[in-house]
Amino acid sequence: MKPCTLALCGCAVAAAAVLGPSLYAQRGSDLPAGPPVQVTANGRTWTQQQLFQRNIGGADDQTAQFPPHKIIGSVYYVGTRSLSSYLITTPQGHILVNSTYERNVPTIQKSVEQLGFKFTDIKILLGSHAHGDHMEGDALVKQLTGAQVMALAEDVPALRAMQPGGKPHPVDRVLKDGESVTLGGMTLVAHLTPGHTRGCTTWTMKVQDGGRTYDVVIIGSLGVNPGFKLVNNTDVPQIADEFLRAFKVSRSLQCDVPLGSHPGMFNMAEKYAKLGIGGPNPYIDPAGYKAELDLDETMFHAVLAAQQKAASQASVAPTAEIKVLSSTALKGVLEELVPQFERATKHTVVIQYGTAASLKRQIEQGQPFDLAVLTLAAMDDLIAQGRIAAGTRTPIARSGMAMAIRTGARRRDVGTTDALKRALLDAKSIAYAGEGAAGVYFTALVQRIGIAEALKPKSKVTASGLLVGEAVVNGEAEIGILPLSEILPIRGVEVLGTFPMEVQGYAVMVGGVSAGAKAGAAAHHLLEFVTAPDALPVIKKKGMERG
Ligand SMILES: [Zn+2]
Repeated sequence: MKPCTLALCGCAVAAAAVLGPSLYAQRGSDLPAGPPVQVTANGRTWTQQQLFQRNIGGADDQTAQFPPHKIIGSVYYVGTRSLSSYLITTPQGHILVNSTYERNVPTIQKSVEQLGFKFTDIKILLGSHAHGDHMEGDALVKQLTGAQVMALAEDVPALRAMQPGGKPHPVDRVLKDGESVTLGGMTLVAHLTPGHTRGCTTWTMKVQDGGRTYDVVIIGSLGVNPGFKLVNNTDVPQIADEFLRAFKVSRSLQCDVPLGSHPGMFNMAEKYAKLGIGGPNPYIDPAGYKAELDLDETMFHAVLAAQQKAASQASVAPTAEIKVLSSTALKGVLEELVPQFERATKHTVVIQYGTAASLKRQIEQGQPFDLAVLTLAAMDDLIAQGRIAAGTRTPIARSGMAMAIRTGARRRDVGTTDALKRALLDAKSIAYAGEGAAGVYFTALVQRIGIAEALKPKSKVTASGLLVGEAVVNGEAEIGILPLSEILPIRGVEVLGTFPMEVQGYAVMVGGVSAGAKAGAAAHHLLEFVTAPDALPVIKKKGMERG
């Protein structure tokens, strides 16, 4: 399976954890949703979501080590594929910029050591901004190295609230805008570039390489995360002005080598690939710095304009009834999120659940609806038929495939493919929904592992996931095959296990707005609501993960 392509920001997730309910207040949920904001800069078109996704990557990108390497002079990359960490070495010890998530600290340590440096030689720890994907690991890095943690004053309150595992966030020196941090002949200057967070910090330094001096800039972040409120933001009423200040400051900086808190901000993968093939250092890219500022600033103004327009229309926004056709895999999630949405918007949401295949047939037969939540395949088919508006296709969440047994029933080992095979061959009976995502996956799986024929006589194929649950509860089936998210709400069953990693599959749930929607804007809005960063805890609780 392809790793997740959907957007859920490390940044915003972390912010939700840090800010709790106050982040909710920053979302645009009291505004009617318009079409997605889209801009063209440097000859390429981006939606707000795509730009955000470019930065944070998929879940794997946030944790997988990127090959550690020298960027220029004494500046090295030691981060993951989508979360930047920089090591700046000096004869008197080193400076680390960005600890990223706490779980990434061992990876950063490994990268530092692979470059031939000692992690314990890190004397100073800095960060890009007070979001967990950049600075959650500060306490652990300090614990391992004794480094002094320094941050701009404006980010200190948010940092103090960041306490992974209950550990207080260390801040040893509070910096003012424009202040310098010096170690072993290297000087880094902290520039306040607020907006993304109150104390979002762009670091600059002069670096020697090959007898020349280069201006290096580590962009803190100039991004407006999806759902972030620029208009009527009660927490920071002047938020738009803060972003404008960040653009002004960023444009005033000399830059030969643009870097950033996410590698996507300076096309690191592309530049890294060019290293060692001769020619000038690909990281020297003043035009790339300007292009990134142009893109971020264009996006900021587009998002601001869209929110201003929505706000001016909000007072006359009518309430609507939204008809939703949803795969049962997302039932648990919608049952929790939809009432919140209804309270926030005064819209009414009417949902019909079923297998993706049966809902797809209803749509093909002309059943009216506003929003559909289906498997990828069903969604793409309906888009091809012109029944769902292509631009609205949005991954919501995915659920791993799992096995259910009656509560208290005998548990079998399903931890490896061999054990799984034995368990399925030994089971008295197995149930799955023939047209459900799990049924389709399971049919292909047993074919692939060569036990399809052996299972046939004892397989019960049902018309829905609900009937699979019933068969397990009343003992007609010993094992029921369902997406994990569908097992959790069923009373009287328990999860035997998810499928072993090497054969695991996912039911990816994708939302799309009907091409003939009556309540199109409200349906858009609902789709944004369930894909907003705030929805992630609910998605996780219901046994799902981001698409
Ligand atoms: Zn962030």
